[in-house]
Amino acid sequence: MAEDISPKGVDMSSLLAEITALKQEIIALKRDNEDLQMAMSTIAEHGDTIETQLYETNIKLQTEVAERQRAQTVLQSLLDMLYREKGDLEVIVETIVEHGDILDTQWSQQLRKADMLAASDGLTQISNRRGFDAHLDHQWALMLRSQEPISIILCDVDYFKLFNDYYGHLAGDDCLKSIAQALHASLARPGDLAARYGGEEFAAILPETSLNGALKVAERIQGAIAQLQIPHERSLIHPYITLSIGVACTVPSYEGSPSSLLEKTDQLLYLAKAKGRNQIRHHFDGE
Ligand code: GH3
Ligand code: MG
Ligand code: MG
Repeated sequence: MAEDISPKGVDMSSLLAEITALKQEIIALKRDNEDLQMAMSTIAEHGDTIETQLYETNIKLQTEVAERQRAQTVLQSLLDMLYREKGDLEVIVETIVEHGDILDTQWSQQLRKADMLAASDGLTQISNRRGFDAHLDHQWALMLRSQEPISIILCDVDYFKLFNDYYGHLAGDDCLKSIAQALHASLARPGDLAARYGGEEFAAILPETSLNGALKVAERIQGAIAQLQIPHERSLIHPYITLSIGVACTVPSYEGSPSSLLEKTDQLLYLAKAKGRNQIRHHFDGE
């Protein structure tokens, strides 16, 4: 049996256990040291590569930042341009809104003027054939609905060719102007219309007017022309300008038409010519 030489009070078995533990710790530390050295050498080996990669990444980042700054500048100038254009457009819209009403009024005035010009006779300034036809169609439709009579008067200057030949074309024009004014002045109601129907032919539309009423107007026209006392030395019937007149009246129906009423009036005018001129021939078409 081995002698116990340990100092008194020292527990040898726990000391041995501690030494064993210390040895193991030393082994572990050695392993750690080897790992560290391995890692250090790896870092040393790959240090250059990592540095190069870092450098390249850095350069890449800088390029990207520069590109983004450039793109931002371009976008900003585009935005500025859009703002300027928006401002211009707002001014234009404001102007249009402000002056829109004036432009509208001017356009409708021009249109009305153009319409009036297209429907009026250049020499006498009263309605022309176009205006006459439009007014007759319109009034015919109204009278058809209300079943009121409508009358038409057609006048033709007697021996006007002889007047022109003797006094000249300019005097002829003046004569036509005076007749137009006298005709126009002889019509009193708002729905009445005086027109130059052709060369030396004139016409009147009298809505809501019976044959008797139309005859009174025809006599008024004849009187007004007589009052003008335009000398006509070459007339075969009278020393002054005279008219032959046809007057027709009807209550519009679906069987009749404006043109049939006009035709009737023209026949009456022809009759007035045939029967010696300077006279009124009339007819009422209906029951
Ligand atoms: P009637 O009594 O049968 O109606 O005979 P008229 O000579 O009046 O009729 P006609 O149809 O033979 O001649 C019409 C004349 O009207 C022809 C032309 O000299 C004249 N005339 C037509 N238009 C104008 C015009 O715009 N200006 C002038 N100055 N004369 C015109
Ligand atoms: Mg004629
Ligand atoms: Mg004539």
